[in-house]
Amino acid sequence: MHPLAQLDHDYVWHPFTQMKDWLKSEPIVLIRGKKTRLWDTDNRAYLDANSSIWTNLHGHNHPAINRAIRRQLSRVSHTSALGFANEPASQLAEKLVSLSKIGNESVEKNIHLLTKVFFSDNGSTAMEVALKLAYEFTRRTLGPTASPHFLSVSGAYHGDTIGAVSLGHIDLFHSAYRGLLFPTEAAMAPYCYRCPHNRAEPERADARSYRNCQWECTQSVVKAFDEGRQKKRPISAFVYEPCMQGSAGMIAQPVGWLKRVAEVAQENKALLIADEVLTGFGRAGLMDDGASVLLASHKEGVQPDLVALAKGLTGGYLPLAATLTTQAIFDAFLGEYSDFKTFFHGHSYTANQLGAASALASLDILATSHGPEVRRRLESDLRTALLSLWDRPQVGDIRQVGAMVGIELVKDWRHRTPYDLSEKAGIRVTQAMARRGVLTRPIGNVVVLIPPFCTTRREVYRMVAALSEAIEEVLDGG
Ligand code: PMP
Repeated sequence: MHPLAQLDHDYVWHPFTQMKDWLKSEPIVLIRGKKTRLWDTDNRAYLDANSSIWTNLHGHNHPAINRAIRRQLSRVSHTSALGFANEPASQLAEKLVSLSKIGNESVEKNIHLLTKVFFSDNGSTAMEVALKLAYEFTRRTLGPTASPHFLSVSGAYHGDTIGAVSLGHIDLFHSAYRGLLFPTEAAMAPYCYRCPHNRAEPERADARSYRNCQWECTQSVVKAFDEGRQKKRPISAFVYEPCMQGSAGMIAQPVGWLKRVAEVAQENKALLIADEVLTGFGRAGLMDDGASVLLASHKEGVQPDLVALAKGLTGGYLPLAATLTTQAIFDAFLGEYSDFKTFFHGHSYTANQLGAASALASLDILATSHGPEVRRRLESDLRTALLSLWDRPQVGDIRQVGAMVGIELVKDWRHRTPYDLSEKAGIRVTQAMARRGVLTRPIGNVVVLIPPFCTTRREVYRMVAALSEAIEEVLDGG
């Protein structure tokens, strides 16, 4: 075993990993990267097919981001936001606010303009900030006896801190901690492939038809609001991931779902909390007219009151996150010091200067004139390359939104029979992909492809070929 692999085995506890399994084989130790490629200690090259858990936007070792970090490094790496301002964080906040306007839409939509940015370190903390702001804002508007109540979507994952876990609905991850959590409501996810009403004919993504669909999933949101009112526990905020529900299993939302449910929430005077930790920064694709968007919510003309951004914020280089809020929410925390309306929340590394500098460089790359063209090509290459997978009987569904893809593996495509999780179908397939030089991580039976935007057509085809061969090797006959 390589000494670095041994060191890992001796000391490191990995996230979301059964360590008994981990310790059975030598881990891949990644030591260098360039664009879409990563190299291990034996100088073996791999394609980064999930952008290092959905973080990397423009490839590894990008000269412009490296330059920005080095420039900042030569000045100062970190100063505290507790009591002091800093240049890159202020510039980044301004840029995020200006990019979060809803483009060509009406001024009315922009009533919910996001005007303030609260920095933190990762997706979970960005959601935790959104949750606490929404909770306290509701109590300050409705009165201190109000008991704010949250609605999210079944299968949701919003992070691992206790508040974020409370908003989540993945039993496998969350049930052990039930006793630590506060109750939240779950609306039906628009998971067409496994919809109990099953009228959306999802067998062929390119010919998907919602003709007969009666949108029971949106009706469940209406029902949750109605029941909340009847039980005198009205829903104060609706928490959603726009366009693609990531860790729930790459659940692609049918066009129109978000617009409908957002309208229901707004009619009920609930806050909209967008978890754009995965979907922000163009991952969910371009607008229909080809325009680039920061927030996936804007693809459906939805302007949230609170937005969590993380993962791609720094281009995938450093841990930095941001929660954007409206002026109304910010104003609810203003007062004399002695009123103690302060938002008592923050972290040692809040508004880290290196992170903010790399985020500014990443946003500049996103804004280059050829950026949208490159992303459109990647989306279309993925769509075309993935068509070949439909011939594999173990491929039940292929879901793509923008440059994000989930391929759901099934035992029997006719009956959509899932593999039992204990069979580790997704894990075994992605391990076989790694042996073919393509790295990704599954979510249960769903294999995820979220490559960096700079992935070439050849690389897309290599990723899909590796997946196809891995399915054949591991699941053939299954
Ligand atoms: N929200 C969403 C939608 C996510 O996908 C994730 C991470 N997969 C998180 C929140 C939590 O982010 P982090 O892992 O950076 O805490």
